[in-house]
Amino acid sequence: MTITATEQGDAPLVDRVELTAHPLQRIGAYALAALAEVDSVAVVSGGRLESVAALMTDHAVAAATGPDSKAPEGFWLKCSLSFFPNSPMNHPSNGKKAPSVVADAVRRWRGRPSSARDPLAPCVLCGRPGVGFYGKLDVALAESDAYRNNTPRGHQGMALCWPCLCCFYALPYGSQLSGGPGMALHSWDEDFLAWTVAEQVDRNRREILVGRGVPRQPPSREVLALRALREYRDELNAGVELLVYSNNNRGQVLDVHVMDQPLAEWLRRTSQAPAARAGYSALLRAHKTADRPGVVALARNAFRDPGRIVATASGWLSRQACAGRLPAGTSELVTLCMSYVDEVMGMDQENLAEIRATADRVGQLLGEGTAGQFNKFYAAFRKSALLRGWLRRQAADWALHGPQATGMGASVPGPSLVSTRAYELLFDPGLDSQAWFHRELFLFAVLEKLHQLDWRPQDADQAAKELAEDEEDAMEDEDLVEGRETR
Ligand SMILES: [Zn+2]
Repeated sequence: MTITATEQGDAPLVDRVELTAHPLQRIGAYALAALAEVDSVAVVSGGRLESVAALMTDHAVAAATGPDSKAPEGFWLKCSLSFFPNSPMNHPSNGKKAPSVVADAVRRWRGRPSSARDPLAPCVLCGRPGVGFYGKLDVALAESDAYRNNTPRGHQGMALCWPCLCCFYALPYGSQLSGGPGMALHSWDEDFLAWTVAEQVDRNRREILVGRGVPRQPPSREVLALRALREYRDELNAGVELLVYSNNNRGQVLDVHVMDQPLAEWLRRTSQAPAARAGYSALLRAHKTADRPGVVALARNAFRDPGRIVATASGWLSRQACAGRLPAGTSELVTLCMSYVDEVMGMDQENLAEIRATADRVGQLLGEGTAGQFNKFYAAFRKSALLRGWLRRQAADWALHGPQATGMGASVPGPSLVSTRAYELLFDPGLDSQAWFHRELFLFAVLEKLHQLDWRPQDADQAAKELAEDEEDAMEDEDLVEGRETR
């Protein structure tokens, strides 16, 4: 595109794109920069801003006067129903009008309002002079679904300045389009946001604007986020929000899913680092279900219930241990999950050591037993009262028959199976949510010990046969690590 050269500083302040506190406006601002093919939002101003606005208007005119929304090339028009319903772009009577009439209407809608229309009210987002009042027609949902842009009767909407209005026109370019709700990532890490929006603009340009038509199956919402994290090369300094929104007349939505910075950064690193590759691959296998690849459930856990990441991994290992074997990748998965506990949960090291020491003894005990015995332990594990009972029975046995420590020339009792402190950490109702997580960690550490002992129970062969089918399914999931998952 041709850019009229107006560099930063030349344009009056009112003509420059500014970043505000509104996440959707910010995504639009970075989309404008990407469309203008510049690295910084601040240089989108003056003639450059006008050129990008004209480019977006051209796209809207082409979509409105092109094939209908059901044709493959009509995808951009179909998307407009989610972003700009009731606009001249998709008016029901457009099919009966001459293309030039439709084009004129779209250009009037998208053109910069003349100064005579200035409402003399400041822009609600940046405080600069507004150029009009805008509602649902132009602006996707505001910050919360409780504050929709259904402007009340007699009220004209919110005042916006021209650059902020252009950001909302650019928003679809920075969003993953589905034909239904749009999805976009937001972060207060400016470098990440600039990068991820530019990537999305690029994809949309390739897939839709150059006429390839409807994109292949768009990624599920959480997978979109995980993909971005896996591809981003720099450290993340802020969390990531996933926004799912639609301005459609049939149902407005704004869902916001948040992933805190430590988890986002951990996922970014572990999904990229060669050293964590085997562990990450096992983590995906652990999250795989009959009808969904592991990456979907992992991403969902990351946004909705991060504690379940470790629980899903330990559950997967345990089910295989019930069949008498631990899968390849066990030790890498354990290492990965322990790094999660350390870096994301920030767990107290003394507490962790206490749980691991107890798990070490329980692992030693189970390591001498059969798959059937592990099965009983795992059945008890799933209810805390049963687990407590199981541990008490084993502790009594351990006290009588467990290893003895030697000292002063005489045999003295070794450490008890479960220390008082470990009991507290695992079962204290006052530590409710943490106790739940401590038990998951404990299970994990027991499995780690079994793996260290190279545990091969006598009844493993029989049990392994039953597992063979599941293993075949799991192999298919390996592809996901290579980045070939359904986009
Ligand atoms: Zn503004």
